Amino acid sequence: MSSPSETLRATVSGAVDRLVVVLGDQLDRNSPVFDDFDKHRDAVVMMEVAEEATHVPSHKQRTVLFLSAMRHFALDLIDVGYRVRYVKLDATRNTGTLTGELARAVSVLTPSQLALVVPGEHRVLRAIRSWAEGEGVALSILSDPHFLTDRETFQSWADGRKELVMEYFYREQRKRLDVLMTKGGKPEGGAWNYDKKNRESFDAAPRPPAPKRFAPDAVTKEVLAVVESHYPRAYGEVTSFGWAVTRRQAKRALRDFVSNRLVRFGPVQDAMWVDEPFLYHSLLSPYLNLKLLDPREVVEAAIEAYEAGDAPLQSVEGFVRQIIGWREFIRGVYWMEGSSYGERNTLEQHGELPEFYWHGETEMRCLAESLGQVVTHAYGHHIQRLMVTGNFALIAGVHPRAVSDWYLAMYVDAVDWVTLPNTLGMVMHADGGVVGTKPYAASGRYIQRMSNYCASCRFDPGKRTGKDACPFTTFYWDFLIRNQRRFAKNRRMAMMMKHVERMDTAERGAIGRHAEARRDELGIGSVAG
Ligand code: FAD
Ligand code: SF4
Repeated sequence: MSSPSETLRATVSGAVDRLVVVLGDQLDRNSPVFDDFDKHRDAVVMMEVAEEATHVPSHKQRTVLFLSAMRHFALDLIDVGYRVRYVKLDATRNTGTLTGELARAVSVLTPSQLALVVPGEHRVLRAIRSWAEGEGVALSILSDPHFLTDRETFQSWADGRKELVMEYFYREQRKRLDVLMTKGGKPEGGAWNYDKKNRESFDAAPRPPAPKRFAPDAVTKEVLAVVESHYPRAYGEVTSFGWAVTRRQAKRALRDFVSNRLVRFGPVQDAMWVDEPFLYHSLLSPYLNLKLLDPREVVEAAIEAYEAGDAPLQSVEGFVRQIIGWREFIRGVYWMEGSSYGERNTLEQHGELPEFYWHGETEMRCLAESLGQVVTHAYGHHIQRLMVTGNFALIAGVHPRAVSDWYLAMYVDAVDWVTLPNTLGMVMHADGGVVGTKPYAASGRYIQRMSNYCASCRFDPGKRTGKDACPFTTFYWDFLIRNQRRFAKNRRMAMMMKHVERMDTAERGAIGRHAEARRDELGIGSVAG
């Protein structure tokens, strides 16, 4: 019997009819590329290419997860009789690019047609399309049924609206998909949203059970070695790697979440706590994004727990909203806004990303905690991403592209369609209000309320100037002052802007000078670039 490594190295020979391309985030056995697949005449091609781990930096755990999950997926296909041309990262003739590897596959296998599901990134779609056109290769690009909302449905919801408000999209999704609806067409429990109940401190909650982790098997161990040898200087640590790399493991991770953490997901979903990187979150995003899990089964599992009386509505509704609401909304925006979306910079911010984002060493306790766990686990939960790492970059004046490239690099679940609207849109407000009608800017007071970080920090969240002033608080007021004209007509900012209006010139000047000094000290430089 050959080893997994030898099995993957075995080549497919002879001409094939249809060559099916499976990318690293398309590990879905129900994908339409497998409909009518003829195991004798067709073949699959999967490629590990350096370009995908280097076009922006990639955390070691992110690269390991992609490669190991791809290898397991290919092995499973081979096991049930599919012919798979699998190009490993260290294969001698590997060209290092997707189109280079497609060209090699096509020249050997001479398929009459290439088929793939639409990639999750404009860059990849563009590259494959223009290569196929240039080479005269027949290419069939299929839509992705993994998602609950196709592009046309999203577009027709968005058409004619002045603002895209996720909450309204979500309500439509609930009705359209018949999720948590009563027979009479009302939302389960009488309300669409239970967030008011969901802002508890973590203080009183019991310690969460540790999430299920998976010890690396032989395939993952080999990938770990390859990544260490190919990318020794890549960011992030890899010793704690315990992510699921197969569908079977991903399903166990889902069961683990539903049985052990869903019950308290809602009440403490916005909390942040020292030495508690995961709290009651699901850690399912990488499996959803690689398509090892289907959003329908994830939603069904949560609703079953509610119906069995194992989880309260406030948790289940809150969780379901993230999947059928936010996740689908974000993807809708990505495709609707087109490939130039990533270039937007409405607030005209040009500062550099501080160096400590890559290693987490800073005196600011909230950032040290949130970044430290990204380095160790390639993970942060939503409020850390939005209100700590994101909020800081926004109010300090960092260029949105530097921020979105950092998020794409450092999180295990990062794929362009989801990272970009969340960072450039939701966090950096660089899209002028497509994802959020107001920026999620906040001072140190917010972090003090939602976490225990400030209790062990040398800064004071209540101070905006002076040696011990919290940099979040300084930058928050500086951000509002800098953008006073821009936000003057934003109704949702009215209360904050009133405070700014009441400030005298001396106070504004002091905040501005203090912010500038902090930016210099942190290597951010000028907001104006
Ligand atoms: P949970 O808190 O358990 O939530 C359940 C699920 O809901 C998640 O697994 C995810 O699939 C979905 N979800 C929740 N919020 C969002 C959202 N805003 N957009 C899309 N899906 C959502 N999510 C990614 O999957 N990949 C990213 O690269 C990514 N980058 C982000 C960058 C920023 C700046 C922000 C603010 C958010 C980002 N998110 C991203 C969304 C969200 O933070 C993560 O999905 C979530 O933290 C993943 O952890 P979890 O699985 O434990 O989530
Ligand atoms: Fe962060 Fe400021 Fe709190 Fe320190 S005081 S942990 S810098 S918010």
